[in-house]
Amino acid sequence: ESIPVITIDGPSGAGKGTVARVVAEQLGWNLLDSGAIYRVLAVAVQHHNIDVQLEDAIIPLASHLDVEFISKNGEARIMLEGEDVTDNIRTEEVGAVASKVAAFPRVREALLRRQRAFKEVPGLLADGRDMGTVVFPDAKVKVFLTATAEERANRRMIQLQQKGVDVNIGRLLSDIRQRDERDQNRKVAPLVPAEGALIVDSTELTIEQVVEKILLFANDKL
Ligand code: C5P
Repeated sequence: ESIPVITIDGPSGAGKGTVARVVAEQLGWNLLDSGAIYRVLAVAVQHHNIDVQLEDAIIPLASHLDVEFISKNGEARIMLEGEDVTDNIRTEEVGAVASKVAAFPRVREALLRRQRAFKEVPGLLADGRDMGTVVFPDAKVKVFLTATAEERANRRMIQLQQKGVDVNIGRLLSDIRQRDERDQNRKVAPLVPAEGALIVDSTELTIEQVVEKILLFANDKL
C-alpha cells in the first residue's frame, strides 16, 4: 500500500484534465482520466442502441467495457472495441449521456475495479468527480478544483471556437449548470470535496498557478 495517489475532483470545465496531465508529467506518474471511462461507456450505450434509462441493460456493458488507453505515435488514444474514439467522446452530447449513465449506482460499481487498476508504480494522478471520496479514499493528496460556471462556459467556448465549432454561450452555460446539478445531486458519489481536500478556485488562476499550488500542497504530504 505504498503507491502514492493524488486525486483531483471537481465540476466539468474547471481545468482538471489539463492540470492532472501536467502534474502527472512533472512527477512522471500514471494518469487516470476517469471521465473518459464514463464517456466511452456513453458512446458504447449509443453504439449498441441502448436506452440511457435502462440501468439493467447498461450494467453488463459497463462490466465488459472493451476500452483501451494506448499510445500511438507518442499520442494518447482511447479505443472502444478496437475503434479510435478519442475525439468522439469529447462532444457535449456524449458528456450529457455520460452524466446520465454515471448516475446509476451499479454502473459506477461495475467500473470501480477498472479504475483502481490504474494505481501502479511510481504513482497515480486521478481526476474525476469521486476520485478522493470513493475510488481512492486512502489517497494521500486530495484536491478539489473548481471555477465559476460562467468562467467554465467561457473556457469551453474558446476551446470549441478554436476547433471551428459554432457556439452559443447561453446554451453552453445552461448545459454546464444542468450537468453540475446532476453530478452534485445524485445519490451515489455526488460531486463534493473529499475530507481534507485542498480547495482551489481556478476562476482567476492560470494552469501554471494551479499546478504550482497542487505541487506545493503535495510536497508537504508525500
Ligand atoms: O469529466 P468529464 O466531463 O469527462 O466527465 C463526464 C461525466 O462523467 C461527468 O459529467 C460525470 O457525470 C461523469 N463522471 C463521474 N465520475 C467521475 C468522472 C466523471 O460521474 N469520476
